[in-house]
Amino acid sequence: MGNHHIPHPKGNPGKLIVLTGPSGVGKGTLVQMLLKKYPEIYLSISATTRKPREGEVAGQSYYFVDRPEFDRMVALGQLLEWAEFTGNCYGTPRLPVEERIARGDWVVLEIELEGARQVRQTFPEAYRLFILPPSIDELESRIRGRGTESEEAILKRLDRAKAEIDSANEFDVQIINDDLDAAFGRLEVALFAKTAALSGAAG
Ligand code: 5GP
Repeated sequence: MGNHHIPHPKGNPGKLIVLTGPSGVGKGTLVQMLLKKYPEIYLSISATTRKPREGEVAGQSYYFVDRPEFDRMVALGQLLEWAEFTGNCYGTPRLPVEERIARGDWVVLEIELEGARQVRQTFPEAYRLFILPPSIDELESRIRGRGTESEEAILKRLDRAKAEIDSANEFDVQIINDDLDAAFGRLEVALFAKTAALSGAAG
């Protein structure tokens, strides 16, 4: 797939790709691999009320906002979707996503389950993928190994993970992240097989 180029014909609508999966499953790493190999893909930058982790850059990792600012964005309809996740709010700014799709670009949202469900309502044509851990035990050791969360936050994330995993079959595709390179290969196949089918249908 090394020479694969994303079709970008003028006048073709872009595509919205939604990547969901429990905290710690490796969504972020897979997305970074995707952007590195296909820099023409646009990753939506979310707004969050969560405090920045060490190394996170405002405006790149997230737009870090306080709760009143977040509520204002919601009230003004500026978020395409939003959800509460273990005590913080997360949401997708609408405008950049809609602009890119209108331009024919591919846009990736890396979001949790509730938000993915909202996108299913507002963008039924979105392609939705769910990343699964090989097991809950493995997920727990990954979240702990990351070392970025308090014990309380870890337990909340694990609770939430179990509930999210039960909903994996709502998605178009499920990808098990047992091995990063293998999972990335499956992600590419899922994305580009779908594209081939779509451009085939369009003639
Ligand atoms: P984290 O705090 O680990 O960065 O993110 C927690 C969860 O929120 C992850 O599952 C992540 O995918 C999700 N998330 C990040 N941005 C958004 C967003 O804009 N909307 C929704 N619904 N979830 C998001």
